[in-house]
Amino acid sequence: MAQIIDGKAIAAKIRGELTAEVRKLEADGIKPGLAVVLVGEDPASKVYVSMKEKACQDVGIFSDEYKLHTDTSEADLLALIDRLNSDPRIHGILVQLPLPKHINTEKVLEAISPTKDVDGFHPYNVGRLVVGKPLFQPCTPYGVMVMLKETGVELAGKEVVVVGRSNIVGKPVALMCLQQHATVTLCHSRTRDLAGKVGMADVLIAAVGQPEMIKGEWIKEGAVVIDVGVNRVGDRKLVGDVAFAAASERASAITPVPGGVGPMTITMLLYNTVESAKRQGEG
Ligand code: NAP
Repeated sequence: MAQIIDGKAIAAKIRGELTAEVRKLEADGIKPGLAVVLVGEDPASKVYVSMKEKACQDVGIFSDEYKLHTDTSEADLLALIDRLNSDPRIHGILVQLPLPKHINTEKVLEAISPTKDVDGFHPYNVGRLVVGKPLFQPCTPYGVMVMLKETGVELAGKEVVVVGRSNIVGKPVALMCLQQHATVTLCHSRTRDLAGKVGMADVLIAAVGQPEMIKGEWIKEGAVVIDVGVNRVGDRKLVGDVAFAAASERASAITPVPGGVGPMTITMLLYNTVESAKRQGEG
């Protein structure tokens, strides 16, 4: 049976380290600050925002929340971002997605100063990742990389197969693995013979959004499996993109869903905010 990669435990360890780091920064007169902007009433977004606020409090980061009405104009939102860009108490700005339809998401993300872009979605930060000189790395793929490192998985020379090519998970995680000298195959909905591609993987990273679509028998004996997918089946049960039970009989290590990649995402948001405060403290 595969080793279970415990995302909660890895996240708790990193949050402990961040708490200590925040205390040290405070002693130097720097209090890391994150502004969280939520526009509208999307129930899932509200839950994410309150989880982020609580996580900030737990490690001692100052969090400033802006809950704006659904009808907020694009101009007002851009003006708020402009103010936050020049607010010295704020080291990270997070605009919770999705935004209401009348607001141009790209325009908003590009208005965030790249030096406060703790989600890593600004094209400047995407470009830095592409050229191998990252400033802020997007939180979910960054969390995946930290999990691999903490599990002792060496990527140099390995075959990494990523399934899913979204801008928030698949593409950035593929670039991060390339940066670690893996040979990367990036699969998507038009990929032919997905089972064959998955079967090549020493490390498989699934970010598709379809319940258990990657079958256990596709997986190479001894592969490491990172399942980013979070899919609700029925009323309550959450499952990943990989058929967990069958996959864990072939993999050497695997992330569960829930309790795998999920807890890492907010942890890396906190990490990016603390890094930003350190950088701004260094001037
Ligand atoms: P997304 O934007 O919907 O992208 C899904 C990707 O999967 C697309 O590239 C799509 O290909 C590909 N795909 C869809 N069906 C496929 C198939 N049959 N075969 C091969 N590839 C297929 O999703 P996302 O935002 O990256 O999220 C992916 C999953 O991760 C979701 O379950 C999401 O909930 C989860 N997630 C979790 C966290 C976390 O914190 N744990 C964070 C973010 C996302 P095309 O590009 O060709 O359409």
